[in-house]
Amino acid sequence: MDKMDRDILLQVNGLKKHFPIQKGFFKRTVGWVKAVDDVNFFIKKGETLGLVGESGSGKTTTGRSIIRAIEPTDGEVYFRLNGEVVEVSSLEKNELKEFRKHMQIIFQDPYSSLNPRMTVKEIIGEPLLVNNIAKGSELEDRVAELMEAVGLRPEYMIRYPHAFSGGQRQRIGIARSLALNPELVICDEPVSALDVSIQAQTLNLLEDLQEDLDLTYLFISHDLGVIEHISDRVAVMYTGRLVEHAKTEELFKNPKHPYTEALLASMPKPDPKYRGAKKIVFGEVADPANPPSGCYFHPRCPYAQDICKQEYPELKNVGTEEEPHFVTCHFAEKLSLAGVE
Ligand code: SF4
Repeated sequence: MDKMDRDILLQVNGLKKHFPIQKGFFKRTVGWVKAVDDVNFFIKKGETLGLVGESGSGKTTTGRSIIRAIEPTDGEVYFRLNGEVVEVSSLEKNELKEFRKHMQIIFQDPYSSLNPRMTVKEIIGEPLLVNNIAKGSELEDRVAELMEAVGLRPEYMIRYPHAFSGGQRQRIGIARSLALNPELVICDEPVSALDVSIQAQTLNLLEDLQEDLDLTYLFISHDLGVIEHISDRVAVMYTGRLVEHAKTEELFKNPKHPYTEALLASMPKPDPKYRGAKKIVFGEVADPANPPSGCYFHPRCPYAQDICKQEYPELKNVGTEEEPHFVTCHFAEKLSLAGVE
């Protein structure tokens, strides 16, 4: 791909992941769950793109499809590696194994994502061992280095995960994900299982590591407060599709999609300066197996008009070329939505 700007590390074009709905003895396919449906975005080297949406919006499936932990149904994923653009979506299995060193995931649950029968040294060192990168004292040195980088004492490497708190376990998970020196880290709800006080420490750690190691993050979260703290740009997802995408400050100040406005209105501890949405939206996220006609958000949208029930709105840029603000809403230019100062 020659059109990818040189400062872009990851470009995702038309990504889809559809899961079959199978019924009966012969497992006949009777429908599809469109968990991710035509998702497009890019991430610049060294930045953090926050991917936000309610549970069931397709955020995690997007992250896993990019890294091909699950195979996407369609679409292209491009990654810039040593100046060359690699099409991740077309790599063969053996090439993919080698390539995965460059993209790693931090998982949500620090309790279930660490094998309780392995010591911390084995957990953090496993990727190095599996990829024949280090063994013996070299491996031990690298594990110690990684533990120090995430604020853990290297002498604890012979302990098992149960000896650590939730926050410390997440640090072990972070150290493991950094073992192979990745360029891109997909952080999948990495602080949602942690206490609020520990959340802030972990976010600060991720920011420090980003600066020290020149990392790029795709940060997935349902929590807008967390997203605001860590992201340079934010993409909002609803029922498998991106509905809004802009720089963080712009998106929080001037939301252009009613769903973003509703998410801002439902933040658990709203900013005291929050101006307040006209109406807080109730109801469930649309079913990706059977989405509504037209704009998927129309059954919940306080601004919906007839056209919203008939036509899915096209993605348009309501910002400038230099500072794009992408949105899919028929009335993005006309609505005056409430944001956070
Ligand atoms: Fe609401 Fe219509 Fe915009 Fe969809 S297109 S978000 S239903 S106003």
